Amino acid sequence: MILIVDDKPENLFSLKKVLEINDFEVDVASSGEEALKKILKKKYAIAILDVQMPGMDGFEVADIISGHSQSKDMSIIFLSAVNKEKSFIKKGYASGAVDYITKPVDPDILILKVKTFFRLYQQTQKLTETQQALREEIEVRKRAEKKKDEFMSIASHELKTPLTSMKAYLQLLERSIEDGTNEPHALYLERALMQSEKLNTLITDLLDVSKIESGKLKLHKTEFNFKNLLLSVADLISKMHPEINIITSGEMDIRVYGDEIRIEQVLINYFTNAIKYAPDSRDVRVNCSLTDDQYLKVQVTDQGIGIPRERQQNLFEKFYRVEESSVRFQGLGMGLFICSEIIKRHGGQVGVESEQGKGSTFYFSMPVTKEMQQELTE
Ligand code: ADP
Repeated sequence: MILIVDDKPENLFSLKKVLEINDFEVDVASSGEEALKKILKKKYAIAILDVQMPGMDGFEVADIISGHSQSKDMSIIFLSAVNKEKSFIKKGYASGAVDYITKPVDPDILILKVKTFFRLYQQTQKLTETQQALREEIEVRKRAEKKKDEFMSIASHELKTPLTSMKAYLQLLERSIEDGTNEPHALYLERALMQSEKLNTLITDLLDVSKIESGKLKLHKTEFNFKNLLLSVADLISKMHPEINIITSGEMDIRVYGDEIRIEQVLINYFTNAIKYAPDSRDVRVNCSLTDDQYLKVQVTDQGIGIPRERQQNLFEKFYRVEESSVRFQGLGMGLFICSEIIKRHGGQVGVESEQGKGSTFYFSMPVTKEMQQELTE
């Protein structure tokens, strides 16, 4: 948009016409004061200022707006009827002007200058946009870098904890063998192995996250019976946590097409979370069903600490941990992210329903046929 400022209506009219014929959008002001109001309110690419106006003249307007952020990219063309002396022109430049044209205005020269300044304005705008985008990008990267540093520190701690315990049990074992004492070797060994298994799980999860990130998580899909898988997972969980009751309900005898090992990983994750985040409860419920449109739906319910409503939408994001419980429970926030990616790769969805202090139901649903999955994932 170009602003023409002149106290004479006939000048305004003819300049406006010339510019509009050349496809420029034009606004007009008939005094310095009016121009000032407009410039401070709206962004103009160019202001064409008549130098000699009663009241505030063109130079005064230019003086006032110079340095103002709203008009910092605006070019100014002064129109002067009488004075073409050097000092006069200098004054124009000192006020932040970029050029001048003498009256009577030669339309060709005016258009030539306006076109040049307009291009300049557009380039400056583009440059400003690029700068802004770059600044935002830098901010995003800085935040990502900070998050990565935080993650590295938590991850090292999480990895070191089982490693330290493992080392301690092995040292106990070594000492008791050396001393020939009657200590429970088998127990030390079992505990060391348990810790090594924790370490193994953490590292496998880290590798899975990195495979997901680089698009290299391979699935090996076959047809399998979901009941067999669920019962074997329930059996494994019962062995690891003999104090827990797993209560199954619904329809389980379902033929499912998918990566059995990865679906098993999702179930184990849901179960271990249901146990970990419900330290005062012994029951974990699992309900399965096959919907009319051939979706397997699995819900794992606990009576644990629950999740505040405002935290629920982020749960399946990478490295996300609920702040309120992150100190009390160890973890890296990778499990649910991996589950969500695995289920997505089967054309399905994950979700949660939870009430703080009452418990949570984590669920997933996925189509059971190869055809539907292919349609949804390709
Ligand atoms: P991690 O358990 O290692 O932190 P997850 O990705 O499995 O990682 O879980 C992410 C977060 O979701 C957890 O930190 C926890 O705050 C919350 N969460 C997961 N499962 C439950 C659950 N059953 N009850 C309450 N909170 C849960």
